[in-house]
Amino acid sequence: MSSRDFYSILGVSRSASADEIKKAYRKLAMQYHPDRNPGDKAAEAQFKSINEAYEVLGDPKKRQVYDTVGAQGFSEGVEGGFSSGFPGGFGRGGGNFGDAFSEVMNEFFGMGSGASSSGRAQGEHILRQVDLSFEDAALGKEISIKLARWESCSPCSGNGSKNGKSVTVCSNCKGTGLIRVQQGFFVIQKTCGACGGEGRIISEICPACSGKGRISVDRTITRSIPAGVTTGMRVRIPGEGHAGLQGGPSGDLYLDVSVKPHPVFIRDGDDLVVERNLTLMQAIFGTTLEIPTLGAGYPLKVDPGTQPGTVRRVRGKGIANPATKGMGDLVIRLNVEIPTRLTREQKEALERYGELAGEAPHSGSAPDGGLFSKVKSIFD
Ligand SMILES: [Zn+2]
Ligand SMILES: [Zn+2]
Repeated sequence: MSSRDFYSILGVSRSASADEIKKAYRKLAMQYHPDRNPGDKAAEAQFKSINEAYEVLGDPKKRQVYDTVGAQGFSEGVEGGFSSGFPGGFGRGGGNFGDAFSEVMNEFFGMGSGASSSGRAQGEHILRQVDLSFEDAALGKEISIKLARWESCSPCSGNGSKNGKSVTVCSNCKGTGLIRVQQGFFVIQKTCGACGGEGRIISEICPACSGKGRISVDRTITRSIPAGVTTGMRVRIPGEGHAGLQGGPSGDLYLDVSVKPHPVFIRDGDDLVVERNLTLMQAIFGTTLEIPTLGAGYPLKVDPGTQPGTVRRVRGKGIANPATKGMGDLVIRLNVEIPTRLTREQKEALERYGELAGEAPHSGSAPDGGLFSKVKSIFD
């Protein structure tokens, strides 16, 4: 293998440009392709050689190494690859194509990367973003989505033939619409040239869909979004994507959910969180508050002497979990609003309270002072 001359295999001079090498490779790869030479071992061997040569010469870095040290610079990887990888499975799902090779083939056959146009195939999926209000996301909502999608052509029942007349299976690809392309390590698929990837030959094409079997239709899809969805969730609506090809199943419609924030409610997992401020009097003497929820208000009994930062939890009054259908809790965070502006009378009343509570007026020293002296005593 190391004695082979990659330049002569591709039939180019040592000074050939990258473009010339690529062109030569395409031509030879097509000529010796196993699908064009079924059962021809010599052609298959030639096809391997061509790919081996191009893998090196098609890569400027590898070509430079080859020009300097010759083919032995690559013998290990190339041999290993051939013995273990050839002929390999069908390309679909393998994914690990040689970069240069798939690039050239994609360019040559006009394939988008990863695309495989074949005969019977599932329709493409459609992805849409839906923006929901906080309440709609939490409670569930019926929404309508406008789509332009491919649907099966009714005059031909999706087979692309005028009046739905039967079609002939393409003999070149045996109806698959795909031809296997083998390259040393890998096998990829390309569109069949004889039928344009359709897998069959249509004598008279359907005028409504130009033989595609599908027509673009504006459609409004109405569906219920389950209660409890949140930002980042994806809702799948099976079968509402593009129609399949030649009787293949339709793709799915996927909705990426985005939920707007709410001025009052916060969501924490499945919990519905509400923050409420108590007045000083409410905190001291207790009260009953009407707490907003997603349904009817919840009457919360606030105990006398409620501390700032108190958290009250009401089981099962939160948000539905769309997966488990369980309900989260209503979580109420209570804070106490300290008055900042006092009238003279209010001030006097509070000073009087301070005296009764044993606090010197304006000193603020009772609880904190006590704490400081305790801390200080540790260091004494
Ligand atoms: Zn074909
Ligand atoms: Zn049609």
